[in-house]
Amino acid sequence: MLYREDQRAGKKLSILGFGLMRLPRNIGGFDRARGEELINAAVEGGINYFDTAYSYPGNEEFLGTVQEKYGLRDKINIASKLPLIICRSPRDFDKFFSRELVNLRTNRIDYYLLHMITGFSQWQKLKEWGIENWLLEKKRSGLIGQAGFSFHGARDDFLQVLKDWDWDFCQIQYNYSDENFQAGITGLKAAHERGIPVIIMEPLLGGRLVSGLPRRVREIFAASGKDLSPAGWGLKWVWDHPEATLLLSGMSSRAQLEENLAVAETSPPGCLSPRDREVFSRVKQAFNEAYRIRCTGCNYCMPCPQNVNIPACFSAYNYSYAINRAEGIKQYTMSIGISGRPGTASLCVACGRCEKHCPQGLPIIDSLVQVKKRLEFPGYGLVLRGVRFWTGNRQPPAAGEGMNNPPPQDG
Ligand code: SF4
Ligand code: SF4
Repeated sequence: MLYREDQRAGKKLSILGFGLMRLPRNIGGFDRARGEELINAAVEGGINYFDTAYSYPGNEEFLGTVQEKYGLRDKINIASKLPLIICRSPRDFDKFFSRELVNLRTNRIDYYLLHMITGFSQWQKLKEWGIENWLLEKKRSGLIGQAGFSFHGARDDFLQVLKDWDWDFCQIQYNYSDENFQAGITGLKAAHERGIPVIIMEPLLGGRLVSGLPRRVREIFAASGKDLSPAGWGLKWVWDHPEATLLLSGMSSRAQLEENLAVAETSPPGCLSPRDREVFSRVKQAFNEAYRIRCTGCNYCMPCPQNVNIPACFSAYNYSYAINRAEGIKQYTMSIGISGRPGTASLCVACGRCEKHCPQGLPIIDSLVQVKKRLEFPGYGLVLRGVRFWTGNRQPPAAGEGMNNPPPQDG
């Protein structure tokens, strides 16, 4: 494992961090046996940064029980987050934080983030609520090691927030699909220049840079002659940046872990050759031609009161450009169309509840209209009813299903 220095904390952090949001699951919840094995194998492989959040259901408890059971606490840095989205008053800071300590079975959170800052005005509001003193007090008492924030907003807001306080670290989304998205390369460099470690999230765009990659992208990678998977290419691209302290990978299998560990071994800053960079310039163009809606599948927008499966709609839509329209319709229909309770785009009543939760700032309502146009051909609702009847799935269709049906009124 390679390590990069967090000079503010005086620590060496593994360049591969474990994002626990995508721990393996089974029908009953977490697959405990596989999850425990994975975490232990990650520690053995040299990973010393584990990222979780109060907002990931059951996730902190899982890490807490595993670290306690196997005596891992002194071998790992725990990163977790204050769930700003459900903080209604300053009193909630302590309420959630104390729960997090219990969940994590610890008396210290090494890296603590304000979860999902989306704009400077939000940060201003938090200041009015006394967040600065709250963080400083937690640091003074040793309950927090480093204080930082995760960011999902516009670049200029990021720069303002960054400069407005003496942060110990920050976390931004960054991957090869668009180096100017949100904080982007400008934000990354600005933080680095201030000596602030930068944690990279979504280095593979929620897995979109691995599964469902456009055929053309796979061909370009394959033609490069380099023995590297699409995941390996994506991670290396991030590690090439000396400004990135570590990246978080949401590993859910031993194979993914092993592969990521192997790539990390050979990925110091500046690891890409001029030829590799040429490969990326072609890949980026091919990827972005196909990848129309930048949904990472994080599920923050779910559940939808109308049962629209928003990430599945967007996945099928992108797939229809990555492969072809017929394949997109097939994926759409098989994954959410014919289920007992469909989740198709036409069920959306534009209530807007989902949009304020989307860390990517996606115009979900408008995008669902695009999904409907592309994937629900005339008579689609009737076809679904027929398929459902034929497959024995005879539950009556939900109101508004199918593009020929009028949407139900919100109310
Ligand atoms: S806007 Fe549409 S997709 Fe979003 S929560 Fe409302 S009904 Fe669901
Ligand atoms: S639409 Fe936004 S919130 Fe919903 S899954 Fe996609 S990226 Fe996440």
